[in-house]
Amino acid sequence: MEDGKNEEYVICPRCKQEVYKEAVLCPFCKFGIMAWLAGDIGENGASI
Ligand SMILES: [Zn+2]
Repeated sequence: MEDGKNEEYVICPRCKQEVYKEAVLCPFCKFGIMAWLAGDIGENGASI
């Protein structure tokens, strides 16, 4: 078992929760996970 190697999850940069990376929005804080992974917004949620 290798911790941190699970491809299915990312750590939300806003709330630090483990979030399924296919999620559009973080279920905990509503951060835009999909947009963040796509590079459309930064870790603070601002547009790039
Ligand atoms: Zn979050």
